[in-house]
Amino acid sequence: MRVKDLSRLCVHTITTRPLDIETAVEKYVSRGICGITVWRDAIENTGARKAGQLIRNNGLEIVSLCRGGFFPSADPALRKSAVDKNLEAIQEAHDLGAPMLVLVCGAEPGQSLTESRVQIRAGIEDILPRAAELGVRLAIEPLHPVYADTRSAINTMKQAVDMTDYFDSPWLGVAVDVYHVWWDEELEKQIMECGRDGRLFAFHICDWKVPTGDILNDRGLMGEGCIDIGKIRGWMKNSGFGGFDEVEIFSEKYWRYDQDEYLDMIINSYLEHAL
Ligand code: ZN
Repeated sequence: MRVKDLSRLCVHTITTRPLDIETAVEKYVSRGICGITVWRDAIENTGARKAGQLIRNNGLEIVSLCRGGFFPSADPALRKSAVDKNLEAIQEAHDLGAPMLVLVCGAEPGQSLTESRVQIRAGIEDILPRAAELGVRLAIEPLHPVYADTRSAINTMKQAVDMTDYFDSPWLGVAVDVYHVWWDEELEKQIMECGRDGRLFAFHICDWKVPTGDILNDRGLMGEGCIDIGKIRGWMKNSGFGGFDEVEIFSEKYWRYDQDEYLDMIINSYLEHAL
């Protein structure tokens, strides 16, 4: 029988979206979950400092804050406003006590992906010094190409790794989300290279259901779809990544479930299919 090891298990608040932050923390802790990644909407009412205290007092480790990014726009004023919003998000991560802010970099459908990437680079350039100053690491999360219209012009591990190479900063790395990169023939190679340079910052897990009912909000529990999560996790470990396995599932279906029952399903599927 497998030893029940939840020491690397983290759950994103978006995964249990119906729960308020107090209830989420209580239910995670009571099941032995050790980490939490906080989505900004979950702490809107509580405030970052108070939420951070609540989480720490309950013995949970804050893994990251989701999310910043969305840099590109054809309108320079909107690009400036995006930078300001990201500076606020960095401050919020700091106030919360989160060591990392995840970046969903954005895309502007009215211009080329290349141009959007140039603007993403400029945006990161504007916020990286402040992130370093406050001790908040920035993790670029490449998104599946199906989101290249509006959500991200960074669609492969290589594009994310190239971005981190350009800045060559200990404060900028990559968040690997299996949902977005499982199909990439270069995945193992890029994980290895990224790990060698110490830039693998985060690992997000869920599954790609076959068929998927909705590309955004029908993500599966580990083992429910076609992603070999154990294999990708092995590559992460081999490349030196020692961080959390973060369960991030957007699912209209599971958000309707009893969340106690759902959390038990998450733990079982994690032990069965991710480790
Ligand atoms: Zn993710």
